[in-house]
Amino acid sequence: MIKRSFFALSKPKLTYDLLGSDQKAPEAIPVPGSLTLLLPETIDSTKQALITQGDAVKKGEKLKLYEDGTDYVLSPVAGTIRGFDSYSDDFGNTATYILIKPDPSKTGEEDTVGLEPEEDLDFANANLRHLPGALPFATLADENTSINTVIIAGADTDVLSDTCQFVCTAYADEMVEGTRILKRMTQVSRIFLTLPEKLQTQANFGSVQILKTDETYPSTLPAMIMKDHLGTELPAGKTPEDMGVCFIRAEALVSLARVFKTKAPVFEKVVTLIDKGGNKQRLTATLGTPLSKIFARFNVHINDSDRIIIGGPMRGFATYTPHHPVVPDMDMIIVQDRDTVTELSNTPCVNCGECIRICPANIPVNLLVRFLEADEYEEAADKYDLQSCIECGLCAFVCKARIPLYQYIRLGKHELLALRADA
Ligand code: SF4
Ligand code: SF4
Repeated sequence: MIKRSFFALSKPKLTYDLLGSDQKAPEAIPVPGSLTLLLPETIDSTKQALITQGDAVKKGEKLKLYEDGTDYVLSPVAGTIRGFDSYSDDFGNTATYILIKPDPSKTGEEDTVGLEPEEDLDFANANLRHLPGALPFATLADENTSINTVIIAGADTDVLSDTCQFVCTAYADEMVEGTRILKRMTQVSRIFLTLPEKLQTQANFGSVQILKTDETYPSTLPAMIMKDHLGTELPAGKTPEDMGVCFIRAEALVSLARVFKTKAPVFEKVVTLIDKGGNKQRLTATLGTPLSKIFARFNVHINDSDRIIIGGPMRGFATYTPHHPVVPDMDMIIVQDRDTVTELSNTPCVNCGECIRICPANIPVNLLVRFLEADEYEEAADKYDLQSCIECGLCAFVCKARIPLYQYIRLGKHELLALRADA
């Protein structure tokens, strides 16, 4: 059980963006002259690599670094491997960029890997993990995880974003077809679709059961959906999957339907860009497209100290390079001008209590952060409910001292898991 019960949100009331009725089709970004695929595996010079610089690749070819590797990416184009680079995220997790030079002349059948999709989880896990929307086939195919409920995210989980609403209404027929395929694959019969209660749409979602979500942030986060709609509180330290609930982007099901229809992998990802002026652009880009190509198309100039945020303003993360690529779970990119970036500070807590009042999990955040600042992760978990945090970011949003509370909490959770794994 969550040790502390949820309570109603107080000020400030943040609301989700609602999809307007006059949605135009996304603008398609052309395939650039170089793609960057992010493979969550590290280069190990002691191992014999399966792929090397200069190798020709086919469209749809599965790329792995090593024979015993568990992760792979699919090449969205036929072309040549230009090289490799290393990547490290906020927590020091490392991965590899595979750089591909597309060859536009290679469009024949012999340049594409054919696919005979099977309604089988092991097949899907081995071949379809890297589709736009990032269907969690690794979880669904895991025999140690028993999923009995699927929740399709049609309601976006961060403020300013309406990508999920757009995808599930613009491509409703394909999403419903993808849901049917997933149902046959998983045998899960409890499937729901979250949608904002105020969303006006003529889209037909067939027999998929709708969960109408409140406009107030963070009502669409998984822990809140489970509590408000399934009547289940997420226990501290557990994931929805631990409780048999799997959350899936609507776009992942659209991708699944398209793969079965075309008998080929698909690579076009829907993304919403918010520029420095707050203008919203909807686009599709091939997986692996560097963000710099998107910025160039929409005349967004990146200066030193501007901030590029992947995801939403509450839960997203900043990337240091405009060369970071479009990846399957990237719904939104925000560019903030350096003059409008709110600087975080090392100022001590002023005990205003705002973080405690706003926290939907009722965590004493001001006390928790003292332990996190001192790297005392076990104490933070045992005494101050680190693992009850649902990662909404509201505490950091209201903090008068501008302490990076959310970053401390995410890092603290990461370090706690690492500590316990080592133990
Ligand atoms: S991010 Fe902050 S406000 Fe949100 S649940 Fe965690 S501690 Fe509470
Ligand atoms: S909001 Fe910030 S300054 Fe206020 S009590 Fe919480 S940590 Fe301290």
